[in-house]
Amino acid sequence: MISSDLLQALFDISPAGIAIADEQGRYLQVNDSYCCLFGYSRAELIGNTFGLILAEQDKSLEAMILNLALTQDQSSPTEWQVQHKSGRTLFVHSSFKTFIYPDGCAKIITVLSDVSAMVCTLNTLQDQEAKLIKTNESLEQIVSRRTIELERANDELARLATQDSLTATLNRRAFEFEAAKIIYAADRYDRPASFMFLDIDYFKAINDQYGHAVGDMVLKKLALNIRGLLRASDVLARWGGEEFVICLPDTALADAIMVGEKILEACRQLRLTHQQFTISLTISGGVVQRACNESLDEVLQNADVLLYEAKRTGRNRLLAEIAKPLYAYKSELLNFQI
Ligand code: GH3
Ligand code: MG
Ligand code: MG
Repeated sequence: MISSDLLQALFDISPAGIAIADEQGRYLQVNDSYCCLFGYSRAELIGNTFGLILAEQDKSLEAMILNLALTQDQSSPTEWQVQHKSGRTLFVHSSFKTFIYPDGCAKIITVLSDVSAMVCTLNTLQDQEAKLIKTNESLEQIVSRRTIELERANDELARLATQDSLTATLNRRAFEFEAAKIIYAADRYDRPASFMFLDIDYFKAINDQYGHAVGDMVLKKLALNIRGLLRASDVLARWGGEEFVICLPDTALADAIMVGEKILEACRQLRLTHQQFTISLTISGGVVQRACNESLDEVLQNADVLLYEAKRTGRNRLLAEIAKPLYAYKSELLNFQI
């Protein structure tokens, strides 16, 4: 048993606020820590009920809380929101125990400690955590948006690197890349491949007569028409100016000629309107079937020689030939010119 003078000392020097109240909830005794905690003097508290320290929203619950205290002990501390004399909200951890004396009187002893700073820190931490989660979420959104933008930019870059900006056909570099793959497969599997050059006849006259923008429109429409007449595996590219090149994999000369003639005929039928004018055009072409082990440069030179011949012999025509060594063409042309 602890002696009553030791208990009194414990009551006096305890850093926790201790109050003893009667069965009406009126303060009978309070220690210095309790007074200090709530900002009241002892004289202000003694005789008053604990309703004084209840938060505004809990004042109406005073009777219920008193009944609770009288009927059951609360030995493990629970958190309460109470009120300082100044009106400031305090958070306390509170335990109480009720003693019923033989004469029927009850005394409620309450021990409480101020945890406002801890609650405040906890709230701040929770706020900061919520903010961090939000920031993290928006960062993740930014990162995923940026990733999508980057992927689009990369796709666009790849497109710009391989496509002719006017006609949306492949550019020369991309054509060479695709044709090299086709040539490799043709040699490996002993498959034919044909190459065709196409060039608009008297295109300069169209530019001169209708303007450069109309010339551009003609190039775009023609490219679209040619693409529509090819297989998906055929490779179409703008070689430069008003000249297109086509690589036809798995295609021997006879079939390549049929494709070429189809394109030339479609071009003859093409009618493009500009203001009150109807523009028609023709193209010339040279097509060769690549000989085994022939390089891309060689086969293209052979097709170019045929295109040149088609121009020289009247335009609006397709000349075709199984590839043969370049010097043979050159000597034939030389003879012709002599
Ligand atoms: P040929 O029948 O001998 O091929 O005659 P051509 O007039 O078609 O050939 P030429 O080489 O004399 O002229 C080609 C013209 O194509 C000249 C050039 O200004 C035009 N050209 C080249 N690139 C473009 C382009 O991107 N847009 C337009 N509108 N014109 C272009
Ligand atoms: Mg031309
Ligand atoms: Mg040309």
